[in-house]
Amino acid sequence: MALQAPEGTKDLLPDESKFWTYFKATAAEVFGRFGYVPIETPLFEQTDLFVRGIGEATDVVSKEMFTAVSGQNLETLLGGGTIKAKSRLSLRPEGTAGVVRAVVQHDLVPQGAAPAKLMYAGPMFRAERPQRGRQRQFNQVGVECLGAEDPSVDAESIIMLMRFFEAIGIPVESMRLLVNSMGCDVCRPAYRDAVRSYMDAHADELCDECKRRAETNPLRAFDCKNSGCAAVMAHAPKITDHLCGDCRDHYGTVKQYLVGEGLSFEEDPKLVRGLDYYTRTVFEVQVTEGMGSQNAIGGGGRYDKLAEEVGGRPTPGFGFALGYERCVIALEAAGYEFPRAQRCDYFVACVDDSVRPEAFSLVQAARNAGLTVEMDHQHRSLKSQFKLADKLDADQVIVLGPDELVAGTVTVRNMATHEEYAIGLAAMKSLLSRFGNQLFDGDFSSMLKSASEE
Ligand code: AMP
Repeated sequence: MALQAPEGTKDLLPDESKFWTYFKATAAEVFGRFGYVPIETPLFEQTDLFVRGIGEATDVVSKEMFTAVSGQNLETLLGGGTIKAKSRLSLRPEGTAGVVRAVVQHDLVPQGAAPAKLMYAGPMFRAERPQRGRQRQFNQVGVECLGAEDPSVDAESIIMLMRFFEAIGIPVESMRLLVNSMGCDVCRPAYRDAVRSYMDAHADELCDECKRRAETNPLRAFDCKNSGCAAVMAHAPKITDHLCGDCRDHYGTVKQYLVGEGLSFEEDPKLVRGLDYYTRTVFEVQVTEGMGSQNAIGGGGRYDKLAEEVGGRPTPGFGFALGYERCVIALEAAGYEFPRAQRCDYFVACVDDSVRPEAFSLVQAARNAGLTVEMDHQHRSLKSQFKLADKLDADQVIVLGPDELVAGTVTVRNMATHEEYAIGLAAMKSLLSRFGNQLFDGDFSSMLKSASEE
């Protein structure tokens, strides 16, 4: 059997790849209005970065990371040896830790500087059990704003994500925005203890994993999919009843800004999100129709301690990531018409092989002028060239025939209206040569038509 792509991965075939390009460009446009500029970080980092940044007791780090070793290091490990910490590498399961590492390493937010507003787009890797909307390699677009702790950053980031989802075509009424505050170093330890005591009191109703979580990381139990655990955790103490004054004020201002901009949201005190680095605001956007259990299309929050965790000076931060593949599922569910990748403006057809050299040079001249043009490369019949032009969605077909070439003319046929006219080849070429890669399809069609009428 022919080899298949690995389990949990997906090829982005041309139509989808083109949509992914458009998706990233739309994100860059919307986020650009909020001051975000691009950053690219490596697809793998030292494992230690994720352990320290995301947290050892999270599912993402403890179970789902793909660890990468060179062939030589693998031999050392298999032989019972050890390798240096800097050679222990993992494919990135998310983007924030790498961006914060880069900000610290390159000192992108020196003392007193304006916040760094960075955006990224690319693949993330998690060894999860694949299902619809859950892959082992998936694409995320994300942003990180480092250097400001004001609630206006939290609010504008959430607003920005909702604006992006609207711009890409996800119907507003199909989205739910959930928000919560996770507190800070001052108020969370006491809250964590309260949840632990509550879990201890209900230990016999919890799964084995949550019994362990009660010791290591009780807040993770809010994410447990076991229905017994979910029932217990539904009545657990609420973080919002345990916030310190500063966190309560911060959260209150975030909500005020959102209300002021007319954004509807629900407060969900059980929303803790899967990563340990969050402080204060967290949020998630879910789609209500057609997504099944993997219904979160994006989410994020504040992480004021992460820069210190990875060895930098205190630098407050806020970020989010959205999942491309889940957005595609949401768009499909909403009946979105995806554009097709395969199209050209003009197709140059040859009546027979004798005109191929002339056709070849016309195609190059048109491409040099900025048009998307295709010709046959397989010596097809004229009829079959028209079929191909149709398949490629060509607006116009330019037909070169031996007799017409002797007379110095070509025929232009509009594929939608079937209207045809003849034009001098020299006139067409001189029109093309006037443009250095700046011609737009519509302009050329009308210029060509008027040149034919002169
Ligand atoms: P997270 O980094 O877990 O907050 O994820 C942010 C977004 O990435 C989610 O809301 C999903 O849309 C998407 N996502 C996370 N994990 C996966 C996965 N395994 N497969 C596909 N998309 C994912």
